[in-house]
Amino acid sequence: PVRVRFCPSPTGSPHVGFARTALYNWVFARRHGGTFVFRIEDTDKERSTTESYDAMLGAMEWLGLDWDEGPGKGGPHAPYRQSERGDLYRDVLAKLRDSKFTYDCYCTTEEVDARRKASGSKVQGYDGFCRDLSADQVAAFEAEGRRPVVRFRMPEGAVTWDDLVKGETTFQTEFVPDFALCRANGDPLYTLVNPVDDALMGITHVLRGEDLLSSTPRQIPLHRALVELGVSEGVPEFGHLPLVMGEGNKKLSKRDPESHLFMYRDQGFLPEGLLNYLALLGWSIAPDRDVFTLEEMVGAFEVRDVVPNPARFDLKKAEAINADHVRMLSIEDVEHRVVPWLQQAGVLTDPVSDADAQLLSLAMPLVAERMNKLTEAAPMLGFLFADEDSLERIDALDDAGRDVVRAAHEALAGLEVWSTAEIEAALRDALIEGLGLKPRVAFGPVRIAVTGRKVSPPLFESLELLGRERSLRRLQDALG
Ligand code: GLU
Repeated sequence: PVRVRFCPSPTGSPHVGFARTALYNWVFARRHGGTFVFRIEDTDKERSTTESYDAMLGAMEWLGLDWDEGPGKGGPHAPYRQSERGDLYRDVLAKLRDSKFTYDCYCTTEEVDARRKASGSKVQGYDGFCRDLSADQVAAFEAEGRRPVVRFRMPEGAVTWDDLVKGETTFQTEFVPDFALCRANGDPLYTLVNPVDDALMGITHVLRGEDLLSSTPRQIPLHRALVELGVSEGVPEFGHLPLVMGEGNKKLSKRDPESHLFMYRDQGFLPEGLLNYLALLGWSIAPDRDVFTLEEMVGAFEVRDVVPNPARFDLKKAEAINADHVRMLSIEDVEHRVVPWLQQAGVLTDPVSDADAQLLSLAMPLVAERMNKLTEAAPMLGFLFADEDSLERIDALDDAGRDVVRAAHEALAGLEVWSTAEIEAALRDALIEGLGLKPRVAFGPVRIAVTGRKVSPPLFESLELLGRERSLRRLQDALG
């Protein structure tokens, strides 16, 4: 059975690459009826923060990517935070240390650097100096008070695997130096805990960003050692997801505001819309199709179809896809989702009054179709809920506009039935027939007078919703 994991380090704010990796793993698990494990890689205590941990969980919740095992959920391999798994790592490290797969290394960084300079070697990292120390050499180092690190002995030759995304991938191990598994004080390092957790948790497929590719030729031999030592049952398959490129074909970086996941949440993106966009960073459902649901993705996703070439991030496209997802929602659903945004903007109270709730339901059909993001609800609908004294007037009337508004007021004041059709007929009659104006010139000033803005929901419907009294009062007020 498929078991995948998503294992961010809680060091900073969740970014777009994080979310894409989470999505692909989640979809892969759902596609294969497998298990999606959420693990927190907080081994590096200096860099890990509680805020970041909370943000990682919050991001997953906002995206709606639920996990089968992990924080808050538990599972057969709990705990799922590396900071709480120290004993497990110590056990495995002891097994490794007793085996032929590792050796104790007493060198200091300075010594390793000095030897590299002297030899002129281009290979970064450790040179294998302590691979075959004699008992006397060990005793001498110990007598100096040195504490060893445990180093993994890289096998000779090459490490090759059939990458699920990149195809056959090979690293010559002469360029992959023996690596440390712990600090001299025994604290385990990422190099140990990441593959050990994958092994202990029975992970079958590792899907992660291409930036982690260089750790794979280390991890595969370590996995093989763990199998031989009876710690795990098999080596996972690996797939490396393409890099995400930002402006100027540079890797999307933390400095780019659009790399931060919460920017989308705070801008009123739908999680569905963002997930759809993220899916496209390396995969597509069909050649000419950009818009699909998560469910459709689950039905169609093949990791072998992920394109290994770097994916280009395009904010405009993300917005367009989000807009399509807003339109895929029912009007009731959009209404439900805009309420918190309207409350946050001070347009609605919390709780919403009955009268406002009713007005919102009547207004939603006018705006739901026109919205690209949920944040647009407040500027679009604010005028309806503002009382006459506090209407925010963003755009102003010019002199010609005042004449139009004066005529509109006169035409509407005498109206018997206050309905969209009657309002439209009266305004057309007075402004287009009567004053000989083009529609844009005629209705623009009326819109500014009643909504305070040049852009608003459809005018005649808006006037009907606003009601006779409020509409006339606003036309009057706009005249000053
Ligand atoms: N904790 C690692 C990171 O956040 C992920 C390692 C992995 O996916 O194997 O970069």
